[in-house]
Order: sequence, then structure tokens, then C-alpha cells
Amino acid sequence: MLNLSAGRPTALIFGISGQDGAYLSHLLLSKGYAVHGVARDADGSSFERLERVGIRDRVMLYSGDLRDFRSSISLITKIEPTEIYNLSGQSSVARSFELPVETFESVSVGTINLLECLRMVSAPIRMFQAVSSECFGNTDTPACETTALLPRSPYAMAKAAAFWSASTYREAYGLHICSGILSNHESPLRPARFVTRKVVHGAGRIAAGHKERLVLGNLETHRDWGWAPEYVDAMWRTLQQPAPSDFVIATGETRSLRDLVAAVFAEFGLNMDDHVDIDDALMRPSEVDRTLLNPSRAKKELDWSATSRMSELCKLLVDCERTGLVGPVPWASGQIGVQQKDRQGR
Ligand code: GDP
Repeated sequence: MLNLSAGRPTALIFGISGQDGAYLSHLLLSKGYAVHGVARDADGSSFERLERVGIRDRVMLYSGDLRDFRSSISLITKIEPTEIYNLSGQSSVARSFELPVETFESVSVGTINLLECLRMVSAPIRMFQAVSSECFGNTDTPACETTALLPRSPYAMAKAAAFWSASTYREAYGLHICSGILSNHESPLRPARFVTRKVVHGAGRIAAGHKERLVLGNLETHRDWGWAPEYVDAMWRTLQQPAPSDFVIATGETRSLRDLVAAVFAEFGLNMDDHVDIDDALMRPSEVDRTLLNPSRAKKELDWSATSRMSELCKLLVDCERTGLVGPVPWASGQIGVQQKDRQGR
């Protein structure tokens, strides 16, 4: 099979249709990569996020699912990537309580299949595995790369299994595999089931005059929230290191959801107390109350640190809500994104 990407670095992204897949593709294209991506249903998907960052026509898209080993290995053999990014699988903690088996299969079994592919093709491919800081569970002191994983949700169980699978294959077979243990990272491309998107969109509608209330669950939860484009830059940097390793990717600042909601409403010139209701039905069966993270290895070895912490993040999200754009990003100047003609219902 003729390799059309010959001479260029070539990336294969599993899970290209999500938030991180869109920003990462944009970053890699800007660096001269040939970008190939896999999604569940490449023919039926609108690839809305790739459209919104303006690169839908610049990436090669394929239907696939890492649970299907045979099709995954034949795709890797055909594309001959130099780097693989595994961002695929069910990504919502809340939904994982309803779909625990789907979550475990798409995240953990999918990752093991990909690792088996790498073992069998025995080509010098570098692989990035997306893991979540949710795996640490509740933290009393800032968690780093060697902190024990104590999952509190089916999603975190699945990501912890993916983390240990990746490091086991790295040790056992000498493969160049790295995990990024990523804190919550947000953007206008987040699906509405995540709380930042729900809050920004809801507050924006209220500010625009819609007579409605924003209904949320646990406001006392604490998270380390960052700006997603900065996180995909960290993913790329992780794979450029001479030796494979794992990195905590986070801002290092932990804030309550109450603080975040107040900041978003304030950006719209509103007081959250006038517009927010709490519904116990939105509380989770078990919750991570506080995520404290230490990203100092990433600072030291990747020369990466987050510049947008929670208050800056809220400004960026509200700005994007107003303009319909999806930037700024650290690798390009100015805003990126294609404004949608009809922004209703996004
Ligand atoms: P997660 O940290 O990956 O689960 O990301 P989410 O954005 O889904 O949730 C972040 C935090 O917000 C969690 O502690 C949730 O319990 C809390 N939260 C409170 N109300 C809501 C809500 O209405 N929707 C979501 N998704 N999360 C909420």
C-alpha cells in the first residue's frame, strides 16, 4: 500500500470527533502533520467540532471502533502513523453510572486492543493515552504521577485500567507509550452534558432574556478546570520526549463549582443566586469532592504549564459563547473557528 503521508509526520487519532480530537487535529496540522482520525461512524457523523475549528476537509476520516481488533490493526498497517493518540471511549462520568459496561469496554478493552495492535505491528510508533485525574478519587494533597489511583466511578475505573494497561505494555514490551493524566479541560466544544458547557450556555440564555432557571447538582464539588487547547499542546509535547513517561496535566489550581458558576454569571453581569436551583436528582451515586493536582513534572520536563486558570477560563468560555468562535489556542495567533450561521441549539 502506497503511503500518501511519506516524509511527513503522520498522526492517527482515535476519538477524533470529540473536543480534544478537534483541537489536537488543528494543532498537528499547523505543525505539518498528516492527520488521520477514527470515529464510530465516519459516514453518518457531521464532525461538527472539526467543522467549527475549520479543518473538516483537511483530515482523513475513517469509521472504526477499538473494540474491533482486526479493523484497528489493518487501519494502523495501512496508515503507518508515527504517532497515535487514543482519545476514544465513553467520556462522561455521570453517564458511566448508567452505562458501566459500555464505559469499561470502550475505554479499557479498547485501549488493550490498541496496545495489542502496537505490539503486533512492531513499528516505531509513539502512543499517547488519555487518562483522567478522576482516577485519583478524593485527594488530600496534590496528586502526582506516582500517587495511588482510587477510582470512585465506572469511568474512573475504566480509565485507571487503561492507565495500568499502557504502563504495563510500556514496561513489558519496550513500547513508546505515554499517559497524560488530565484534569477537567473545557471549551465551547464540550458536549452539553458537562457542567461548564451547561452553565455557560444556560447563563447565556438567561442573559439573553429567556425566562428560565439553571438547575444543577453538587455545587460544593472542587475541580481543577483548564482550557482544552492548552491540554492538547501538552499531549503533543508528551510524545516528543526521548523517553516515554506519564504526566499529570492540570492547572494546579482547585476551585469549587460554586465559584465557577458565580464567575460565569458575573461575566454576563448576573448574580447566580437569582437564577440557579439545586436538584438532588443530579447528585452522583459517589462523587469526587476535591481534586488537588501537582503538574510540576510537566512544567519541568515538557516546559508546559497552564496559563488559563478558572477565572480566565470563565472569561474565555463566555467570550466564545458570545462570538461563536472556539479560540484562542496557544499555537496560533488570534481566534480560531468558523462562526455558525445558526447558533441556536448548539
Ligand atoms: P467530571 O468531573 O468529569 O465528572 O465533569 P462534569 O463537568 O460532568 O462534572 C464536574 C462536577 O460538576 C462534578 O462534581 C459534578 O457532580 C458537578 N455537577 C453539579 N451539577 C452538575 C450538572 O448539572 N451536570 C454535570 N455534568 N455536573 C454537575
